Amino acid sequence: MTAVSTVAVVGAGVAGLAAAIQLAKAGVEVDVFEAKPELSALGSGITLQGNALRALDALGVWEDVRAAGFPFEGLTLRAPGPTAPVVAELPDVKTGGPDYPAGMGMYRPDLAGIMLAHAERAGVRFRFGSTVTGIDDTGDQVEVVVDEAPVGRFDLVIGADGLHSAVRRLIGIDTEPQSTGMGIWRAFVSRPAEVVRTELYYGGPVYIAGYTPTGPDTMYAILVEKAQDRSGVSDAEATQIMLGESMAYGGPWESIRTDLAAGAHVNHTWFTQHVVEAPWNRGRVVIIGDAAHSCPPTIAQGAAQGLEDAVVLTELLIGRDAVDQAVWDEFHARRLPRAQAVVDASVRARAVADRRCPRRRHGWADLRHRAADGAAGMSVTDVHAHVLLPALQDEVRRRDPEGFAAAEALDAVRNGAASQAVSGPMVGARIPKLTDVRVRLAAMDEQGVDRQWVSASPNHFYPWAGSSWPSGWRARRTGWSPSMSRRHRNG
Ligand SMILES: Cc1cc2nc3c(=O)[nH]c(=O)nc-3n(C[C@H](O)[C@H](O)[C@H](O)COP(=O)(O)OP(=O)(O)OC[C@H]3O[C@@H](n4cnc5c(N)ncnc54)[C@H](O)[C@@H]3O)c2cc1C
Repeated sequence: MTAVSTVAVVGAGVAGLAAAIQLAKAGVEVDVFEAKPELSALGSGITLQGNALRALDALGVWEDVRAAGFPFEGLTLRAPGPTAPVVAELPDVKTGGPDYPAGMGMYRPDLAGIMLAHAERAGVRFRFGSTVTGIDDTGDQVEVVVDEAPVGRFDLVIGADGLHSAVRRLIGIDTEPQSTGMGIWRAFVSRPAEVVRTELYYGGPVYIAGYTPTGPDTMYAILVEKAQDRSGVSDAEATQIMLGESMAYGGPWESIRTDLAAGAHVNHTWFTQHVVEAPWNRGRVVIIGDAAHSCPPTIAQGAAQGLEDAVVLTELLIGRDAVDQAVWDEFHARRLPRAQAVVDASVRARAVADRRCPRRRHGWADLRHRAADGAAGMSVTDVHAHVLLPALQDEVRRRDPEGFAAAEALDAVRNGAASQAVSGPMVGARIPKLTDVRVRLAAMDEQGVDRQWVSASPNHFYPWAGSSWPSGWRARRTGWSPSMSRRHRNG
């Protein structure tokens, strides 16, 4: 016995497809209404973290996903510059547990195709080209209206219709996604053999540059810039922008630029954030996935959270015999705090990436986050990523002695000669605390620290900018605020 016999799912994205697969496998009659004429998955690639892979396993699609994707462990940080020097190899947390890789890159249409095939095999009916425009909840059932015409009555409607959800509006929720102030360029390109995991670059003209492998020969590349209106930009202009903004990055970016110049498709979108407050349902209509929450993909969790929504909701609907308040209470108790925590963490990671504005990154917004953590009873310590960089500094000193001397002079003014005298040994002592996960956890235990905040220290990348940057660039970007100075003195 399940709590529902018939369900309408609005939207055939990952969240809607996941809910449809689970319910249909349990014998529920499922109709999926999708506005697009066929399944298409915009964007080039996606990173599926371990928790997303675990959810896909619960749906029964993991084996197909594993065969189609590119699994990897760890994260590589590189610096701008002609050779893209590797700054650090960081271990990844296995968010799905030991049975899954820490992460996997995938071509989005492949993921969509696999999920569609499983849904169809489970008996899900798809109604493509059907835009849901109305919903009428009569208490025991919900009537669904497509293009102003009623199309059927269902025990439950799941609104998985994405960021600009019509279902959300139709049930009277007025929360809308907000821009986080960043936009992203993405391109699907060929994978140089040396790229075997996600690699990110902090520093240079954009907030973040990077790429993630998606298959034996493919990967997707990203450039995260300040949000700006790119709506009128033609395909050719988009390619030129991506080529231009990537010029500060060497290594695998050479191959990416070759593909861009040869016509690799480029796409642009903004980062958003929102979390709908509880409840996510009104009567027998509930929203999940991006309709309920969105976050910048700084920790690649948007789709993962939509998958988790679907797995938890369907588990409750399959395990109970009525759609009652207990179902909604448990659904919200299990999903809302988690979705909220992920959105908060993603936005925080965005703040760290926002190294163009030291006052914001190191100043008030950061302090507010810390205050929030303190209020939650959580102790926090900050470790600047510059402790990772002595080797890089040596290289910088060698390549750009003048720029490095300027940065050192600024550092001396900012932190004082005494601080500089101790920083070398201090850096040496701290490296394992960042790079070796066991040493790092032990150090946190020893200090009674719950959460360690690692912030990029872009000053140490500045000399890479070289002479091609506008004059004054270095000085402007190394502006500092009192709070930043205090924390530098503290280590
Ligand atoms: C740049 C970028 C990169 C990202 N990278 C990652 C990543 O690496 N890892 C990750 O986990 N997440 C990532 N995300 C987030 C992830 O893409 C989304 O969270 C996820 O795709 C949302 O899935 P969804 O099913 O909720 O919504 P969607 O995928 O948006 O699906 C909604 C569907 O509903 C349909 N629809 C809309 N309105 C109607 C209507 N009225 N009637 C019928 N159908 C309708 C739409 O056509 C669409 O097919 C990224 C997001 C962005 C913007």
